[in-house]
Amino acid sequence: MGSNNIQAVKGMNDLLPSESPVWQYLESTVIDILQSYGYQEIRFPILEKTALFKRGIGEVTDIVEKEMYTFTDKGGVNKSGESLTMRPEGTASCVRACEQNKLLFDRANQVQKLWYTGPMFRHERPQKGRLRQFHQIGVETFGLEGPDVDVELLLITAKLWKELGIDNVVELQINTLGTKESRANYRTALVEFLNQHRGALDEDSVSRIDRNPLRVLDSKNADTQTILNDAPTLMDYLDDESEAHFSQLKSLLDSQGIAYTINPRLVRGLDYYGKTVFEWVTTKLGAQGTICAGGRYDGLVEELGGKPTPAVGFAMGIERLILLIQELNVVPKDIFRSADVYLVVAGDVQEKAFQISEHIRSSLPYIRLQMHCGGGSFKSQMKKADKSGAEIALILGENEAEEGVVSVKYLREDKQQHSVKFDEIINTLS
Ligand code: ATP
Ligand code: MG
Repeated sequence: MGSNNIQAVKGMNDLLPSESPVWQYLESTVIDILQSYGYQEIRFPILEKTALFKRGIGEVTDIVEKEMYTFTDKGGVNKSGESLTMRPEGTASCVRACEQNKLLFDRANQVQKLWYTGPMFRHERPQKGRLRQFHQIGVETFGLEGPDVDVELLLITAKLWKELGIDNVVELQINTLGTKESRANYRTALVEFLNQHRGALDEDSVSRIDRNPLRVLDSKNADTQTILNDAPTLMDYLDDESEAHFSQLKSLLDSQGIAYTINPRLVRGLDYYGKTVFEWVTTKLGAQGTICAGGRYDGLVEELGGKPTPAVGFAMGIERLILLIQELNVVPKDIFRSADVYLVVAGDVQEKAFQISEHIRSSLPYIRLQMHCGGGSFKSQMKKADKSGAEIALILGENEAEEGVVSVKYLREDKQQHSVKFDEIINTLS
């Protein structure tokens, strides 16, 4: 590429036709499973007011402090524009959309089981499995206190990993953040501990001691992690309600045969997250090992202006899942075909070729039929037929057209080429 050509923004990728079948396969597998559990799709804008994310994600988080794509919108006459942000995640927008459209408003509408998918934007250092525009499939439920629905979410994900053939390389980690009251007691003990070790913690962690101490637990700094080995754990501060929720969660998971490990460092770190938190992790993707993360956020709807509404959800990273299924070589081979049948148009027979193609497409809509366009020799057309991945080449030449037949050539099977009358084509292909 010449130096004059404009390149894509760093960390924002194109998706090429050669890769899109993998995305379609992944997305449709996930969506089919979600629909089979009765979850419904919701779509919301990519741009939201910055305040939504500041309140919804929390001011003292990596996302809000460092990673958001924020700009000032054009203002009206004598009015300055407002601050907008490209969504870095979906939960806050989902809550905003539900509230604004009264999906959580009356009794009949209190329970929602929703999913969404689309691009998210974070200004991070791009590397394998970490992009600036990446994609998530997210699931949120509202109006259910759990832990039954928490378990349902984990069942959905476990089923998905099985369906994708990655269940052997992912591990479920769970933790509980307890109720608000348990967290408050724990917070006091943790702050005291962190203050004792202030000098040895990384800079980010020190700055969070007073503002968001739980978040220090998930610091990526190795020295900080070593110090945290001796930190008090939230498990020792759980009240009866937190204990009961967590032990029911565990026993339901056991009853459904879903294996897990308890990771006391797993946190979401904001006051409106509580009780269940979880991550599905793999060791096959280096540092970007979390493919799906979620938890219960019973306080968020209220924080954003709604009535108190229990809620739990998760989001999975599509790019990381794609890397994983490619790494494990479990992508089905047949998704890459662009056609099942390829019609070779040899000579001046376009009109008939269109007729036959349209007839096949309307009679057998599940067949992907490519009609050759652009002329060229018989040999070059046969090469294209082969490259398309089609099982069958239908050949229409001037002789065939005159006799009212097409030749049927099997491209992947050792079967004799033969010709069929026009009105027999559907029978032959079905
Ligand atoms: P990490 O610790 O890897 O930065 P996170 O805690 O910021 O992840 P979440 O906000 O919980 O991630 O998002 C849910 C999922 O979305 C992650 O588990 C991951 O699979 C995916 N994800 C998050 N950030 C990125 C990114 N920059 N590029 C690609 N995928 C991402
Ligand atoms: Mg992150």
